[in-house]
Amino acid sequence: MIDQFGRDITYMRLSVTDRCNLRCRYCMPEGVELVSMKDILTYEEMLEICAAAVSLGIRTFKITGGDPLVRKGCAGFIAALKSIPGVREVTMTTNGVLLDHYMTELLAAGLDAVNISLDTLDPGRFREISGRDELDAVKKGISAALDAGIKVKINTVLQKGVNDDEWLRLAMLAEDRRLDVRFIEMMPIGFGRESEGVSNEFLRGEMLRLFPAMKEDLSVHGNGPAAYVRIPGWKGGIGFISPIHGKFCGKCNRVRVTSQGRLKPCLCFGESVNLMTILRGKEDADKRKRALEAALEQCIYHKPGQHCFEEPEKISETARMVNIGG
Ligand code: SAM
Ligand code: SF4
Repeated sequence: MIDQFGRDITYMRLSVTDRCNLRCRYCMPEGVELVSMKDILTYEEMLEICAAAVSLGIRTFKITGGDPLVRKGCAGFIAALKSIPGVREVTMTTNGVLLDHYMTELLAAGLDAVNISLDTLDPGRFREISGRDELDAVKKGISAALDAGIKVKINTVLQKGVNDDEWLRLAMLAEDRRLDVRFIEMMPIGFGRESEGVSNEFLRGEMLRLFPAMKEDLSVHGNGPAAYVRIPGWKGGIGFISPIHGKFCGKCNRVRVTSQGRLKPCLCFGESVNLMTILRGKEDADKRKRALEAALEQCIYHKPGQHCFEEPEKISETARMVNIGG
């Protein structure tokens, strides 16, 4: 569906849980309260939302969280989502801790690609950033995804004075593996407001200095806003997702649904539509579908033209990233 600014909205990020098995400082540090399970969408409710979204032209779904793999039945949900006529692609973003364990089930379910978040290759630092000793599990998850032959992207968030000295080591994962490494600028959402990120403009400059033969890569790598480069001889690409230093709102193609059923047209703003009230109302399935479609249509049409991360006082979203899904 086309929004008021002429953008074709074809992609939905769906958070299936607010639970996570890591405690990343900038997302869900220790002590964050969990939402009661009764206030989290059931898989059946999510499928109703997805079916309505498909009828409005959404074709691609990203399953996120919290960590989607901590919710039981995630692979079964993906299989059910893939069986909705019109769904073209279902991908997942995970911290990778449980990926090795679930890879076979996810493949059988039809998962098309996986993004794995990894901010460091140093075990002590991994614990410092994520609160848990799970680096080996994540590495196994990456290998399992590569062995499975699906598309793999590594998502890295750099923080000044924490892991910014590690960008090259992380980027070099793409040297001899068929995966893309993407650097995501820290966004001032939730606990991200308390961390200092690194500009991708700066990083790109550093990379060009070290690899003068580095070239822009305009081929399509996914559904998102990353700008890619290639370093001759490397198997994978390097991507930059730069909400702060490279606004990409003119090309934004997405909406988000939180695990509590909030439909969010833009990450930056608190405005959302409560789909839970429709799903748990008294209407029958047909009427619910029409009501969901109407709500989605309104929300998509009125999607804001751009975010406001460069003017933090205008950011009205107060939820944490772990509740939104990134
Ligand atoms: N647990 C999964 C994971 O870590 O990939 C999925 C959810 S997590 C919220 C999705 C992505 O958002 C992760 O790559 C994480 O690093 C990123 N993220 C969390 N808070 C962020 C922030 N304030 N700015 C930028 N990225 C953030
Ligand atoms: Fe969990 Fe992902 Fe947030 Fe880390 S970034 S706390 S892994 S949801």
